[in-house]
Amino acid sequence: MANIIPLIDVRAASTLDALVRDAARAPAAGLPIDALGRRLHDLRISVTDRCNFRCVYCMPKDVFGRDYPFLAHADLLTFEEITRVARAFVDQGGAKIRLTGGEPLLRRNVERLIEMLASIGDLDLTLTTNGALLARKARSLRDAGLKRVTVSLDSLDDPTFRAMNDVDFPVARVLEGIEAAAAAGLAPVKINMVVKRGANEASVVPMARHFRGTGHVVRFIEYMDVGATNGWRMDDVVPAAEIVRMIDAELPLEGAAPNYAGEVAERWRYRDGGGEIGVIASVTQAFCRDCTRVRLSTDGKLYTCLFANAGHDLRALLRGGAADHEIGSAIAAVWRQRGDRYSEIRTANTARDPKIEMSYIGG
Ligand code: SAM
Repeated sequence: MANIIPLIDVRAASTLDALVRDAARAPAAGLPIDALGRRLHDLRISVTDRCNFRCVYCMPKDVFGRDYPFLAHADLLTFEEITRVARAFVDQGGAKIRLTGGEPLLRRNVERLIEMLASIGDLDLTLTTNGALLARKARSLRDAGLKRVTVSLDSLDDPTFRAMNDVDFPVARVLEGIEAAAAAGLAPVKINMVVKRGANEASVVPMARHFRGTGHVVRFIEYMDVGATNGWRMDDVVPAAEIVRMIDAELPLEGAAPNYAGEVAERWRYRDGGGEIGVIASVTQAFCRDCTRVRLSTDGKLYTCLFANAGHDLRALLRGGAADHEIGSAIAAVWRQRGDRYSEIRTANTARDPKIEMSYIGG
């Protein structure tokens, strides 16, 4: 696989103070557009950096062990602070919010946060979860105002799944969570499967087969070099084209148009009308030019790329007495100077660069 493309983008964050000062001095008209012409549409919020799984490709046990310095409670944004950022994001044209983590269902009273976010107005409000606590919480999440849910599930083969989550968690309980979510109306349920060479590619076709005809949409995700702890190698990536070929050979597929410009997953439909799948080819077919996402870390830093190594400290503004319009100006100013396109310039070497862990920045 070709992988010789230089990393030219050093993600040194400009100081937020300077950006906000400039924004206040000459408020820019209209909604913010970044340096590559992309608008701001999605906010991913990591509500906790903790997780009850230790997926080998995300939070490997030897790094995220007992002594790992997870954030102290006082460092986490409060629900009120998160809601202020979310409101400012909507004022800047944002329309979709996804709660993530870590494992978002571990954040105590996350339903309360969902209620607060849902009250902002007409937002597409979703959440990504490993599903471990979903059977218990699906109804209360829906009642709080959550619209949809994405559940991560890397295999239907129990030994494979238990080995990948590395806490011996069984497939059956995640499946119960998926069914509870659908029954509660958090539909269509999306199911994320990260495909890692040598770990679970044999689970691709069984996964497609199992969910075909259920209305749930499986999205097969190329294994990415997020964070700095998973020992990523290009050889571990199963390209999306290979995933599509594997499924198509047994369950014929045809391409489907995107639901909207900038949709992360490439859509494929079963020719027999059994529904659809998606593939997320963030390594082999980078989609940076359509990326409209910004991320809020658990402790309130704003990141303009999943592969960033520096963020912009909104918590300092929130706790320093900034007015709502100043939070909005800060978000807009950060967005306007954004030029990130890491996945288009990834190499085997950049994969070793220091990057923020996904559990902290939000998957
Ligand atoms: N705990 C929740 C969960 O399991 O869905 C939310 C956080 S998790 C970081 C979000 C998503 O990122 C999951 O679907 C996970 O499989 C995916 N993910 C984590 N590390 C990844 C990697 N290296 N490459 C691709 N996807 C990854």
